Amino acid sequence: MALCSAMIPVHTNFNDPQSALVDPFGRRIEYVRLSVTDKCNLRCFYCLPKGFRDFETPAHWLSFDEIERVISAFSELGVKRVRLTGGEPLVRKNLPELITRLASLPGMGDLSLSTNASLLSDHATQLKDSGINRINVSLDTLKADRFKDVTQGGDLLKVLAGLQAARKAGLNPVKINMVALKGINDDEFEGMVEYCMRNDFTLRFIETMPIGEAGREGSQHYLDLHRVLDQLGKRYDLIPGVMAGGGPAKYFQVKGTDFRVGFITPISQHFCETCNRVRMSVDGTLYLCLGQEHSIALRPLLRDGITDEQLKQVLIEAIRLKPARHEFDEKPGQVNRCMSQTGG
Ligand code: SAM
Repeated sequence: MALCSAMIPVHTNFNDPQSALVDPFGRRIEYVRLSVTDKCNLRCFYCLPKGFRDFETPAHWLSFDEIERVISAFSELGVKRVRLTGGEPLVRKNLPELITRLASLPGMGDLSLSTNASLLSDHATQLKDSGINRINVSLDTLKADRFKDVTQGGDLLKVLAGLQAARKAGLNPVKINMVALKGINDDEFEGMVEYCMRNDFTLRFIETMPIGEAGREGSQHYLDLHRVLDQLGKRYDLIPGVMAGGGPAKYFQVKGTDFRVGFITPISQHFCETCNRVRMSVDGTLYLCLGQEHSIALRPLLRDGITDEQLKQVLIEAIRLKPARHEFDEKPGQVNRCMSQTGG
């Protein structure tokens, strides 16, 4: 099978995972966001367009065997962290089986999951037992009516119960991700801080991005998080620079507590120069950037008999296609796929 091996730079050393997945801008890729489904049991208005039905057909979903092959190849090339996402990952059948398989791959350092927590009550213990270390829960409001509106039908009580189940199961840390939305939840930032402090959850605020039609609609409610930081700084004594981590959040600690709050600012202060990740959608498309179309379709290769060595070469070549940065500001209409199709 011809795999453009001419494109592989001569300095790539396949036996040295440290040098394999480095993009043209010197960024080492060590993190994969793996979407296990594009379906979701909620419909956050800024994520999935109203009436959206264009979900992938099951025949196009990567099987657990196919996912394991790709993640195994990535991990041999130096990827140490994988986050399962979607869509809502907990709607994919038999997910614990996949988690067990991925957790036992040599070199897998950190396996985590993003969820809306609606189904978490029933799954938390099994997730923990199968190998998930920690979870991120998306939660934009603590008001039941508002939650129903934002998610177009969701039940806040189920989410809160799911969060308690996560705590009880020993998933740690539990991080709450709250998209800041002007005119929608901008009266709840302090309330969310208080809730997370009480429950020992880490909180992260996120700026809304113009991803897909729904994302562009959501961007009408865009809020620069520097304003949220200023607002919280008036109420709390915030100590900067704690918990560097491998991600884009800038963290602060509330003085005198263990509570940490992070700010993820893809729009007001992007962090593309330190991007260390790629995303794979449920149909096996590898996206090199959340905000660009650069991608490579792995499914046809997997189903066409590619060998493990060839697969690794394809991944190395793919990383060479990673663009320098998103262009949400300059080209807000650039990305037409919605967040749940890419894997959030
Ligand atoms: N269902 C899981 C969950 O709720 O965390 C994982 C998928 S969801 C697409 C992942 C995250 O993407 C959520 O925190 C959601 O709020 C965020 N998201 C979706 N569309 C977004 C947008 N346009 N801008 C910023 N964040 C977005």
